Amino acid sequence: MNEELTGYQGPATMEKITSLAKRRGFVFQSSEIYGGQNGAWDYGPLGIELKNRIAQTWWKEMTQLHDNIVGLDAAILMHPRTWEASGHVENFTDPLVDCKKCKTRFRADQIPEKNLAEKQCPECGGELTNTRKFNLMFKTHIGPAEDSASIIYLRPETAQGIYVNYKNIIQSNRMKIPFGIAQIGKAFRNEIVTKNFIFRTCEFEQMEMQFFVKPGTDEEWFNTWREQRWQYYEKLGVKTNYLRWHRHGPDELAHYAKDAYDIEYLVPMGWRELEGVHNRTNYDLSRHTEFSGKDLQYIDQDNNNDRYIPFIIETSAGLTRTLLMLLCDAYDEEKVVNEKNPGAPEGTAGSTEEWRTVLRFHPGIAPVTVAVLPLMKKDGLAELAESIRSELKEDFATDYDQAGAIGRRYRRQDEAGTPFCVTIDYQSKDDGTITLRFRDSMEQVRIPRAGLAERIRQEIKEYKRIK
Ligand code: ATP
Repeated sequence: MNEELTGYQGPATMEKITSLAKRRGFVFQSSEIYGGQNGAWDYGPLGIELKNRIAQTWWKEMTQLHDNIVGLDAAILMHPRTWEASGHVENFTDPLVDCKKCKTRFRADQIPEKNLAEKQCPECGGELTNTRKFNLMFKTHIGPAEDSASIIYLRPETAQGIYVNYKNIIQSNRMKIPFGIAQIGKAFRNEIVTKNFIFRTCEFEQMEMQFFVKPGTDEEWFNTWREQRWQYYEKLGVKTNYLRWHRHGPDELAHYAKDAYDIEYLVPMGWRELEGVHNRTNYDLSRHTEFSGKDLQYIDQDNNNDRYIPFIIETSAGLTRTLLMLLCDAYDEEKVVNEKNPGAPEGTAGSTEEWRTVLRFHPGIAPVTVAVLPLMKKDGLAELAESIRSELKEDFATDYDQAGAIGRRYRRQDEAGTPFCVTIDYQSKDDGTITLRFRDSMEQVRIPRAGLAERIRQEIKEYKRIK
């Protein structure tokens, strides 16, 4: 059983995460030289590697490991009727209030009820405006004319691209119910409050899987998908006592949902939604049938050509939000004894203590899997290290660093979350061995170069987080 935490207990703060993310090239503020753009962020060299790795793990989990789930990449721009059918034009709104005095804008559902009732600003005590509804969809025009006939929306979720393709996929891929369609892609929401770094942004990425089932089997599938999605986070190696379920109460349940659970993670600012698992009933396909005039019933050829509109179980995770969660989950600071150079005589180093910042990513998702570090540039060590790196490149994301003291270089790799370092010294030249150094334990083992790639593969497979 998970012991649920009542409050965040790790060393991470949003300030530390944001500053590390910038310093090491995970995430930059969008258009920073112009003062930044609210709600938009850029992913730097380490960030894009991490984001790709999360997406690949999710994709493998959902498609490769399930015979009955196929992928899709639908366009961001969709026919505007899609959003009428989905209910977004009418219902995708947040309640908004402004403070007349300090001009701060709030989501009415996120400020204390007392302030709302008394129309009093929670920041400065000034008077609040009446609550008004604000649609979160970005609206623009397609083509040269800016009239009502040319309105088009940036999709606020990827799900609808799946629903409108459900018949195409049944026909082209001969899918039979139960089956699923998975998609990763950008979504856009005109969020009123975008603080907390990349947690809530106007432009973000989702990883969604819509699973089509026979009515009556929906509750069972709903439970199956809840289990599967929980296991996914266990596989990612995150601290499971920082994860919990939150079931939507009657007030929170979306208009289309029969039942809904969120997987929440305890980030420094508290428990926050990471992913939603929803039983969406037959709402979506019924609405698209009504609005498009197309028959979207499933014909069950194995059961006397029974016809029905499938129920949909949705698993909807934020890719960029998962990245933030993983940064918080991996972040650690600890006091360590300075690591000495491999082969250095006793007493020359290793006596001083220092703090290290380390990102304890699962090696399967770490942006860089292995860094190759020659002890010295001279005497052919750099060339030897380069040749080892070239060998490893085919299988792993690698980095190479020959600048500065070895201890400093280990610290740099720790901070980037690199699980393995390979150090090349004079002995390597003589006997073909290298030192493999582990990020979490800082343990070093000397092994023959020949079995290196295999050893790393094995270590990734058997990885167990120690802290
Ligand atoms: P919230 O209540 O946080 O606004 P939601 O319930 O509207 O989220 P869904 O529509 O269920 O979220 O979207 C599914 C997932 O997409 C969320 O669990 C989250 O991970 C991600 N997500 C939604 N909105 C944003 C956003 N503005 N920025 C980043 N990720 C988001």
